[in-house]
Amino acid sequence: MGMTFPAEHVASYYAATANPSPERPALEGTVDCDVCVVGAGFTGISAALHLAEQGIKVVVLEGARVGFGASGRNGGQIVNSYSRDMDVIEANHGVDTARALGDMAFEGNRIIRERVAHYGIDCDLKDGNLFAACNAKQLKGLREHKALWERFGHRELELLEDAAVKREVGSERYVGALVDHSGGHLHPLNLVLGQAAAVESLGEVIYERSPVTELVQGAPVELVTPRGRVRATRVVMAGNAYLDRLIPELAGKSMPCGTQIVTTAPLEASRARQLLPNDMAVEDCNYLLDYFRLTSDNRLLYGGGVNYGGQDPANIEAVIRPKLAKTFPDLSDVKIDYAWSGNFLMTLNRLPQFGVLGDNVYYAQGYSGHGVTCSHLAGRLIAEVMSGRDERFDAFAGLPHLPFPGGRMLRVPLSALGAWYYRTRDALGV
Ligand SMILES: Cc1cc2nc3c(=O)[nH]c(=O)nc-3n(C[C@H](O)[C@H](O)[C@H](O)COP(=O)(O)OP(=O)(O)OC[C@H]3O[C@@H](n4cnc5c(N)ncnc54)[C@H](O)[C@@H]3O)c2cc1C
Repeated sequence: MGMTFPAEHVASYYAATANPSPERPALEGTVDCDVCVVGAGFTGISAALHLAEQGIKVVVLEGARVGFGASGRNGGQIVNSYSRDMDVIEANHGVDTARALGDMAFEGNRIIRERVAHYGIDCDLKDGNLFAACNAKQLKGLREHKALWERFGHRELELLEDAAVKREVGSERYVGALVDHSGGHLHPLNLVLGQAAAVESLGEVIYERSPVTELVQGAPVELVTPRGRVRATRVVMAGNAYLDRLIPELAGKSMPCGTQIVTTAPLEASRARQLLPNDMAVEDCNYLLDYFRLTSDNRLLYGGGVNYGGQDPANIEAVIRPKLAKTFPDLSDVKIDYAWSGNFLMTLNRLPQFGVLGDNVYYAQGYSGHGVTCSHLAGRLIAEVMSGRDERFDAFAGLPHLPFPGGRMLRVPLSALGAWYYRTRDALGV
């Protein structure tokens, strides 16, 4: 069983400021194709675009609207690399795997920029993001992080210590920061809508409001929607946290997590510049992290909080406003115009899950909170493996992934305990 999909995007700042985009029809009747992509987020649309560029006939099935999932509602931060860093990958999976993944750690970012330039996508792309340290231990971690990324060839990092962090963030909360000048931020819904239009410009078809309710493996694979059916030689499963339990093998090794975002009313331009003088995106170094940035119309977009299991909290503003006020006390009474929640997919080792079911159902999921760049890399690697170049896809597919202890039912209470543990660690600065 999969989840129930609504007909529209959630009400968010992004949905309210989306570039004009057509409503796509729902699938009716039977369609044959080379590749069927399930899910029109960054993973699915990025894969579809890479495949379409190679002249492969693609059909995309989206349960709700293009960008309905995490890709259309996230923090918009272009964060390089993965949710686990290369030293941990090296310690757990060996030098060769770390080298292979390290060589790809900055590629998703480049793919996004190439797409934006090549297809002329208007998505408020800005340069620069930073990781802000709340205490000395986190700052030490950032120093190590810088050395590690430099080992993998990344040269655009700058460490800001003590008062220097004020150059980038007008808050008393931080004792330092690591700036990644090659990172950045953007309007994620417009990025995915722009790439979807590019897929269509190459002659491929995207169906909306067409949830896959059943997948029958075989040759061809059959994908069933409420009013139609696709027969595909190969399939890309790109439903991530919204795939729910459609494919038990994928659900068992991952956990949907919710995180919430608010967007303030537009601020005076001068006030906005006091908060973030060079318009960089910020995430702090806590396990349960806060992340924020300015939008192109000078709103503060502020996210944080993680609820494991992915149920939306009743009052999002009540969850996020105290965090925002802790970072920027002057904004404690600011008007909030939008508040929404979205689900990302966590894996136990925080590394993404790539693989193939049978010999023709490919998947990529579970970027564990940092998926804007890695989902774009995933799309390219899926297109590569489908055209016989399997080395880079296999570097990810070879990573071992364990099921969550206790399975689905136990995951929520267990992880609630985990959230408490991490909150306590963050508070103590250990
Ligand atoms: C609130 C929030 C903030 C975040 N902030 C950041 C950030 O700042 N930086 C960063 O790097 N990462 C961030 N992330 C993570 C990032 O957004 C995700 O990792 C990434 O967007 C995942 O892309 P995806 O295409 O794999 O999944 P999604 O974007 O979730 O797309 C999956 C799509 O599949 C569809 N689907 C699912 N099942 C079916 C089915 N059975 N049939 C048809 N369609 C189906 C869904 O409707 C959905 O559109 C954030 C996530 C959230 C939720």
